[in-house]
Amino acid sequence: MQRGVALFGHNISYSISPVIHNTAFEITSLPFTYLTVDIQPDRFAKAIDAVQTLNFAGANVTIPYKETVTQCTSSLSSVAQKIGAVNTLSFKNDEIFGDNTDSTGFFNAYISEIHSLDNKTVLIIGAGGAARAVCDALITNISPRKIIITNRNVERAERLAEHVRRVYSFNETGTIPLSGIEKYADKINGIIQTTPVGSGLHAGQTPLPDSFQFNREHIAIDLIYNPIETVFLKHAGQLGARTRNGISMLLHQAGLSFTLWTGVPFPMDKVIPVVMDHIKRRT
Ligand code: NAP
Repeated sequence: MQRGVALFGHNISYSISPVIHNTAFEITSLPFTYLTVDIQPDRFAKAIDAVQTLNFAGANVTIPYKETVTQCTSSLSSVAQKIGAVNTLSFKNDEIFGDNTDSTGFFNAYISEIHSLDNKTVLIIGAGGAARAVCDALITNISPRKIIITNRNVERAERLAEHVRRVYSFNETGTIPLSGIEKYADKINGIIQTTPVGSGLHAGQTPLPDSFQFNREHIAIDLIYNPIETVFLKHAGQLGARTRNGISMLLHQAGLSFTLWTGVPFPMDKVIPVVMDHIKRRT
């Protein structure tokens, strides 16, 4: 019997997760289909109920539901609990299990860049579910000197900083406003861009002011994968920073979710060329 897996989010037509998962299902001959469900906030809980009733194996959850979905779950993995956000749901015996593969996916994708940030100052742009996972990956795997969070909604940045200090006892966490951020460029070693600014409806934009001077010592990671080079990464690369886009994280977090639903190892080597070819044809 064919089983479904859904991707829940809003304004997510750019997503290439269906290509990744449907390619992996085909390669492994699993009778699964992955489909995108663009859902309005007031229908989100009902939509989860519906796919569970339809015997779906699970779901991914993306912008803007990664934090609110925790309220719809029967139980959470320890990492999802720690992060306070879920990107993967598994449906088993009427139960909804929430997990988070973004932290390990982020770490596995950028191991060498992350190790280069040991004992260094990291700026995180954004304070949503992805930013929470990035904080977890950094603190769990290295010892950053300082984590600084900046976000459009300043209160949300402060909430995340407080969460990091409380849950991880990592007191070297603070926030700075986006306006005037250029003054701190020389004090920062890594810049991790976790907002959608640069993709979809915000394509061609960057969250940083043009006066922000990247330099050759900076490591700049943008979690966006469509386009493959955002304006943020373009500016960073032009001034000599080491840059990485979000494709590698996308594949790694997807692989971990795939195994949670199917119990089967993700065929990474075979999926990569199909996904890269898809991206090339689309751009
Ligand atoms: P989320 O929980 O909804 O958080 C969104 C964050 O982006 C918030 O900090 C929000 O700021 C900010 N933001 C949204 N629209 C903005 C705008 N127009 N201007 C400035 N800031 C804005 O979403 P998420 O799950 O963290 O995902 C964020 C992004 O990361 C998405 O683009 C997603 O595709 C990407 N992502 C990629 C991967 C990957 O594997 N490569 C994995 C996870 C996420 P406010 O608090 O001010 O609203």
